[in-house]
Amino acid sequence: MWPYHPDLLATPVPRYTSFPTAAEFGEIDAAAYADAISTATGDVSLYVHIPFCDKICWYCGCNTAAANKAQRLATYLDALHREIALLAAQLPASARVRRIAFGGGSPNALNPVDFIRLFDALVLNFPLEEPVVSIELDPRTLTDEWAPVLGAIGATRASMGVQTFSPKLQEAIGRIQPMAMIAHGVELLRKAGVTSMNFDLMYGLPGQTRDDVTDALSLATSFGADRIALFGYAHVPHLIARQRRIDGGALPGAEERFRMAELGHAQLTAGGYAAVGFDHFAKPGDPLAQAAASGRLHRNFQGFTDDAAPVLLGLGASAIGSFPTLLAQNEKNSGRYRMLLSQNRLPVALGKVRSADDRRRGAVIEELLCHGRARVCRAMLEQAWDRLAPYVEAGLCEVEGEYLAIAEHARPYARSIAAAFDPYRQHSPRRFSSAI
Ligand code: SF4
Repeated sequence: MWPYHPDLLATPVPRYTSFPTAAEFGEIDAAAYADAISTATGDVSLYVHIPFCDKICWYCGCNTAAANKAQRLATYLDALHREIALLAAQLPASARVRRIAFGGGSPNALNPVDFIRLFDALVLNFPLEEPVVSIELDPRTLTDEWAPVLGAIGATRASMGVQTFSPKLQEAIGRIQPMAMIAHGVELLRKAGVTSMNFDLMYGLPGQTRDDVTDALSLATSFGADRIALFGYAHVPHLIARQRRIDGGALPGAEERFRMAELGHAQLTAGGYAAVGFDHFAKPGDPLAQAAASGRLHRNFQGFTDDAAPVLLGLGASAIGSFPTLLAQNEKNSGRYRMLLSQNRLPVALGKVRSADDRRRGAVIEELLCHGRARVCRAMLEQAWDRLAPYVEAGLCEVEGEYLAIAEHARPYARSIAAAFDPYRQHSPRRFSSAI
């Protein structure tokens, strides 16, 4: 059994999809962003954000809006096309795009013809070199016409937001998707050539039981999911207004959430999936599991990844780009995003210059989360010791020479242990999700 220490999980901690985290972002100017782009040589990845969904789920914390106004989608796409042209024109000739990820929102909230035009714009403007193409999809709007689209863009990786198969839980979170819909989505993805299919699932939902979690995982594996991301639902209605529709009184308690995560880990690893990081699972042949096994796993804004590119360019409202010395986020508000692009200005709004110390600490945090082990210099260890000591005393991690190692049974504590190396957290208000 995983040891349960509620006191060591009590402080909300970031998910560390970047370091410094987005909570540290402040205003940055376009010149700093242009400078960073001008240094992007070698492998580069693209992330394209589509902030629309056909139906908005009550639990969702993403930057997305209802895709019910054709004019709104059209003007957004005009701006996105303009951003693609502007950004690509500034990229050095030595850069090569090896990955393209479409996320949101739901990329399939777009009309398939518009989506193909968008992909064509990437092809025409960026130096693509046999990119790995991945896409997030909403099974509720995955119509048959998307199969040829996915085939045409060469998407081999797709992620479907499933969350739960239980009709009663689907009702409780405002996301209705009957089993036949998932089955249809799976068939469509396979027919389109997707070889790595991810299901997002959640625990900690209102009224959810351990049996519900077990059933969801069994169904996901029976559908042949190559990857499963098992997230704890983060209920923060004071930050995300749409979550006010969810019955907070029906949410499982902290220990129950912990046991659900433990049960998920036990069930999936017993079923042959490799545990990747603290909340992902993958079949041993999947590139994510292989990256984890060979020490090539990374963490970026999309979660755990086998993408090793040092530069990620974010396109679209709220998209975040990552460079060795800078994190840069586009304007979140689609009106302002469009306005900046109408003036032929890159729509960057927020970000953080990464100091040498940020980069060193970011590397330690990423290593701990991806591999459960990181080389830590003496000075950094001493600075972190007050926060680290309770975890060491509880047997959740230990110092082995120059390394700090997280115990196998301490995966749920990984974010909290990593946070000991995050100097920004000492002064930050509690605005993150629960550690489990
Ligand atoms: S489909 Fe996904 S992105 Fe869209 S509202 Fe639901 S959870 Fe959020």
